[in-house]
Amino acid sequence: MFQFFKNSCLSEGELLNCIKCRKPIKGKYFTFTSLRESPFCEECLNSERCNICSRPLFDGETSEVEGRRVCSQCLAELDQCSICQGPVLGKHVAYDDGTILCGGCFMSARECSMCGSPVVKGSMMEVQDKSLCMKCVASLPVCDHHGGPVSGRAFSLGGERIICDRCLETAPACYCCGRPMKDYRTLGTIRFCRECLDNLKSCSSCDEKIPGPGLEMGQDGFVCLACAEFTGICHVCGKACEEFAGRLGDGRGYCPECAESVVESHIRLEEILLSVVSFMERELGQEADPGDDVEITIVDERKMALLKGSQVPRHTLGRFEWAGEEILGFFPVLPLAAAKGAVAHEYSHFWLHNRLNMVISHQLDEGFARLVAVEFLKDQDEDQWARALERISDCFDEGFSECMKVFIRSGLKGVFHMLEEHSLPMDTTGVEDIP
Ligand SMILES: [Zn+2]
Ligand SMILES: [Zn+2]
Ligand SMILES: [Zn+2]
Ligand SMILES: [Zn+2]
Ligand SMILES: [Zn+2]
Ligand SMILES: [Zn+2]
Ligand SMILES: [Zn+2]
Ligand SMILES: [Zn+2]
Repeated sequence: MFQFFKNSCLSEGELLNCIKCRKPIKGKYFTFTSLRESPFCEECLNSERCNICSRPLFDGETSEVEGRRVCSQCLAELDQCSICQGPVLGKHVAYDDGTILCGGCFMSARECSMCGSPVVKGSMMEVQDKSLCMKCVASLPVCDHHGGPVSGRAFSLGGERIICDRCLETAPACYCCGRPMKDYRTLGTIRFCRECLDNLKSCSSCDEKIPGPGLEMGQDGFVCLACAEFTGICHVCGKACEEFAGRLGDGRGYCPECAESVVESHIRLEEILLSVVSFMERELGQEADPGDDVEITIVDERKMALLKGSQVPRHTLGRFEWAGEEILGFFPVLPLAAAKGAVAHEYSHFWLHNRLNMVISHQLDEGFARLVAVEFLKDQDEDQWARALERISDCFDEGFSECMKVFIRSGLKGVFHMLEEHSLPMDTTGVEDIP
């Protein structure tokens, strides 16, 4: 690998010393590209030489690049590896942006999934399954929840704020607004964001904040069911009774006749579900499709144990994951009318989510479910319980009255169209793909 050297002979009377051994040169001498004017003697020519320009190395020149010895002049002129900053000798890769890699860095480098430039471990970051260079990482929006960069799917939290899909999956969501929370307050077993908790109505008698359904209009405003006086009227069927035979999870009492009707078999639940499905088909003018098939079941002790800690409404139960499938489950404690309302409520969530690909506001989601339950109950001549559902107050009153307004003008079909419109990406809870 002799790059260039001149092979000369001393002319008469010329005196030269070898630059390496300092001895006077006799006869032949040699000069090299990297040290043009400096002669080496023939003896020194045969000592160890630079791997690039092939001139003999001085004793102090011990630099090695990728296992090969180089002289100090060549070393100074070598390209620098963009990653380890070391000199690049042999195999190297030059990229369009001027990036040059030494063999070692090239072997261990991966391409940035965004800009394609090479990055090695330590100078890259894994962001949602992508390996990115720090430059690209710095250009990414930041997840409001975990505080890290987001690439790929993210959801708008309104304004500039976004949340990554992973946080959306795992962060505890506010029971009321459905937004993921960093810190939360609990009321009973239910979690609220600070804002929603502050907005909860309180009982006008005991001043307790009431999380779920459980406030009824009394003479002095809303009262909780614990404070509500016994009026001798069954909450579920509206008939007079001397005492309650049982109570729903939220405290509302029912008469002995209603107690007789408690739905305890899944066959009965399936019958109710069938009537709900045909009610939805009729009212919404849409055929149920195979995607609407859902398992409905009585939740027994065994399943209950596995559900501990989840946010289940106390008086019924709802949609929950079972072996990776979303199913509808109910405690065997609901009088027939209450069971009808609960099945209609939960199934309408299922129906809605199956049709709207995007996220809609939790308020509207719950408002729609309550409205469907009320209308289904009226359709089933369960007027008393339908009125009870209309009369109660919970943290979804806002969504319910919004759906109600549209319902009065254009029925459930109209409400469904309104929800479709509200699920567009412009909505603050809509989905955004961030490249
Ligand atoms: Zn050299
Ligand atoms: Zn390198
Ligand atoms: Zn990059
Ligand atoms: Zn996140
Ligand atoms: Zn909230
Ligand atoms: Zn009270
Ligand atoms: Zn009753
Ligand atoms: Zn619901």
